[in-house]
Amino acid sequence: MKRVTLINGDGIGPEISDAVMKIFTASGVEIEWEIQTAGENVIAYEGTPLPNRVIESIKRNKVALKAPVTTPIGKGFRSVNVQLRKELDLYANIRPCKNLPSVKTRFDNVDLVVVRENTEDLYAGIERQVDENTAESIKVITKKASERICRFAFEYAVKNGRKEVCVVTKANIMKLSDGLFLDTYRKVSEDYPTIKKREILVDNLCMQLVQDPTRFDVLVLPNLYGDIVSDLTAGLIGGLGVAQGANIGLDCAVFEPVHGSAPDIKGQNKANPTALLLSGIEMLKYLNEFDYAQKIEKALFKTLQSGICTVDIGGHATTTEFTDAIIKNLV
Ligand code: ATP
Repeated sequence: MKRVTLINGDGIGPEISDAVMKIFTASGVEIEWEIQTAGENVIAYEGTPLPNRVIESIKRNKVALKAPVTTPIGKGFRSVNVQLRKELDLYANIRPCKNLPSVKTRFDNVDLVVVRENTEDLYAGIERQVDENTAESIKVITKKASERICRFAFEYAVKNGRKEVCVVTKANIMKLSDGLFLDTYRKVSEDYPTIKKREILVDNLCMQLVQDPTRFDVLVLPNLYGDIVSDLTAGLIGGLGVAQGANIGLDCAVFEPVHGSAPDIKGQNKANPTALLLSGIEMLKYLNEFDYAQKIEKALFKTLQSGICTVDIGGHATTTEFTDAIIKNLV
């Protein structure tokens, strides 16, 4: 029995977490969930959206599945997601984007992976109000963080049979910060002669992605560009409801969907659990539970192929109907 932390989140988090736990239980995979609440709901009792017990639980179990957690705007709390990534040093954010069966999108054959640096850049949270008309945010890029994310991207490419790693920057404008990221990529790339290299500016990348995403394979980006581009690529495969992600560090890994807590559809039995389920499937692979990962993935694909899906990807099924259909298709 493997013990995993489950952060069930807020907004649609609890609904999609329940769906995934039901599917996992029905599949027979031996996972013991250690459920940890976080986010807006716990502030009243614990004074913070991310109590220490959550961090301790992940440190103990080494692996977590995380539903979206809202950070209240403007109440002095640091983003739960950013804090979690920093505390656990989850330096690599990986977002695979591949077409799903029967989910109609503009392009077929999208199969790319966004590897985003997760710990610095404008997300370091170094901001100041200079005066009432001016605010500043500092963009921090270090050689150490750039090197480990670029190496991670190349290692990922080698392990997963990928052919190319393309670095994405705006080094023509941010010559020092993005320039350092690009230089570091070039140095690291020398250690991987079998992987094709490519350099692109982030604006050009965005244009090319919406023209023909099949031109791209593995993309490695600093934090902010990675955040924006991975939402764009989520759109290429059917939107946030199907976009999975993982945050990987040296000791721990947290698997989570790209989407937020979607408060607009909370409690309406409308939420698509696919992104969290795909994140859970990746988590099973990380735990070497390949047979169960495949079993659940097959059931998901069979369900989508039969035309049963939630409203966000063109169907009529409720969260419960979709979940039950996946369970029926587990063989
Ligand atoms: P955050 O700032 O936390 O990323 P956000 O408001 O930018 O949140 P989401 O909460 O991800 O973004 O929601 C964006 C839109 O996508 C909303 O209209 C929401 O209903 C929809 N959406 C997000 N996730 C899902 C899902 N799993 N199923 C169906 N619709 C979803």
